[in-house]
Amino acid sequence: MSELAYPYEAPASQALFDRAAAVTPDGVNSPVRAFRAVGGTPRFMVSGSGPYLTDADGREYVDLVCSWGPMILGHAHPEVVAAVQEAVARGTSFGTPAEGEVALAEAMVERVAPLEEVRLVSSGTEATMSAIRLARGFTQRTKVIKFAGCYHGHVDSLLAAAGSGVATFALPDTPGVTGAQASDTIVLPYNDLDAVHAAFAAHPGEIACVITEASPGNLGVVPPLPGFNQGLKDACAANGALFVSDEVMTGFRTSRSGWYGVDGVVPDLMTFGKVMGGGFPAAAFGGRADVMAHLAPAGPVYQAGTLSGNPVATAAGLAQLRLLDDAAYAKVNAVSEQIQGLVTEALSKEGVAHTLQTASNMFSVFFTDGPVRDYEDAKAQESFRYTAFFHALLANGVYLPPSSFESWFVSTAHDERAVQRIADALPAAARAAAEATA
Ligand code: PLP
Repeated sequence: MSELAYPYEAPASQALFDRAAAVTPDGVNSPVRAFRAVGGTPRFMVSGSGPYLTDADGREYVDLVCSWGPMILGHAHPEVVAAVQEAVARGTSFGTPAEGEVALAEAMVERVAPLEEVRLVSSGTEATMSAIRLARGFTQRTKVIKFAGCYHGHVDSLLAAAGSGVATFALPDTPGVTGAQASDTIVLPYNDLDAVHAAFAAHPGEIACVITEASPGNLGVVPPLPGFNQGLKDACAANGALFVSDEVMTGFRTSRSGWYGVDGVVPDLMTFGKVMGGGFPAAAFGGRADVMAHLAPAGPVYQAGTLSGNPVATAAGLAQLRLLDDAAYAKVNAVSEQIQGLVTEALSKEGVAHTLQTASNMFSVFFTDGPVRDYEDAKAQESFRYTAFFHALLANGVYLPPSSFESWFVSTAHDERAVQRIADALPAAARAAAEATA
């Protein structure tokens, strides 16, 4: 352990975790933050600046989680902070329409061609839940197709074989979800169009929609095979169902117009979150105007929210989107490629079997010979190697997702100094992965 830059203990984080555990289940407000998959004390962060997070023990980490995607400009970007301060001073919630929500919706519609109309909500979970309800209301059908390993938030009917924390903890279908809710969900293997066609044939006139992550990042990064998303769209169109593309993770991250900007497949409905909120709770769903017209108050499908379109959140999101021009994406993509190269080099040098998969600037490492095309492939990885890799990087000031079933995220703020820190930490981490035992 002599080459570790930091002592391994984190006493201030541990003290906070102990306090937290007394008042909150397992001390966290979202399961993967608890470090259960990798063990050890979750780091309680006190501040973020650019590509760095600082924990309660005063240690600085290069952040490769970026709040699970939103912080694409890095932490506390001065222009986003200024927009937020200006908005806060004008009042934090009105419960009326306000210009900021119009401006954010306009910015989204301008960037993403299939988005004719959007409705703002506060979380990605709300966005997918509402999109599913709307798809059912519009089609007058009940069944939904989703893919194993895809995560669409903790919507009851979408928790079946879900990714992210559900995959991390290998949870069976969650208690609390009723049989009726689960039985309306058809779970299929990802990247398998034959299975989709068979499901439509087995349930004629019953399937309201197919929902998929535009490019999945919640089982690790597993991009769609060429033609998969278009095949989904075509199957939906042929069978009177809606194609719902979940861009909560990819939206405004994988390109100026999200994954739609990468593969050009036109969904009927789309969902967004993360980047569009600039680090605040803002999310959205939208798409075809004739479908959105079914939403209350224009139509009969009810959907609402006290804090929807919150003026502080919309100011943050708008400021972030305005800064996300072509140059910003070129920068994120370039630094992502640089880090990908370093990771591959370090693991190859130690002879560690691994597969690095990318979706634009999103990427992750699977400790298995690839390719990883679906959830079964992802589960076949040697996650114990990830645990060793994760802790060696953490001890040397690099913060990875505390799970091998997650995407890594970078930002425009990841500069040479941050990349050098990663480069310095990787050899020991690769060695730890090589030496790890199950
Ligand atoms: N959909 C996708 C693709 C996601 O990655 C997530 C969260 O990670 C969600 C939906 C849920 O979003 P939220 O955590 O804001 O509820």
